[in-house]
Amino acid sequence: MRAFLRALLPRSCPGCGAQLGRAAGLCSSCRVALRPRVELYSPLSPRPEPHLVTLGRYRGRTRRAVRALKFGGTRELAEVLGAALATGVPTRWAVQAVVPVPLHPSRERERGFNQAALLAGVVAAELGVPSVPVLRRTRVTRQQARLSAHERTANVAGAFQADPRRLPPGAVLLLDDVMTTGHTLLACRDALHRVGVTRVYFAVIAH
Ligand SMILES: [Zn+2]
Repeated sequence: MRAFLRALLPRSCPGCGAQLGRAAGLCSSCRVALRPRVELYSPLSPRPEPHLVTLGRYRGRTRRAVRALKFGGTRELAEVLGAALATGVPTRWAVQAVVPVPLHPSRERERGFNQAALLAGVVAAELGVPSVPVLRRTRVTRQQARLSAHERTANVAGAFQADPRRLPPGAVLLLDDVMTTGHTLLACRDALHRVGVTRVYFAVIAH
């Protein structure tokens, strides 16, 4: 029904509000503004090398696009954002699989989909590798944005488990839509380390 209504109504760009016309997902000027970059995010790696690919800060059109994806969830938007992100993944990372950060099942039921899984599918297809949802949450965690730095570490520590059976050997790209402090990504990385994945890189639409 939602897809049917969407086809009938004039659509506006979730990034800037301009009429979308025949463009899907985002208007052409918002697409041009989506420039992936690789950043060094030191808490995420002991090695002094860039290892986070992102479309930038969580503000402006990037923030509006992410919110539109989370709460309105169009596949076209996931495709535009995921494709832009994928172009920024350095080939030297030799990524062999993309792993989405999981939502807790109860939250996924509420929302109907996991936006990180949707994006992971797009990024994986662009990179020509599988998207493998090998992580699961072992307990309900509170929303990181509402917690202090100390509470955030405790909130997600040990909250994830990885099932390595479906993972190809080699580097993994861990993907989430937004990174706030990085604690969730770190907890997921630790879960992957525990099952023997040694190289984990990170991708987020915005941070
Ligand atoms: Zn726009």
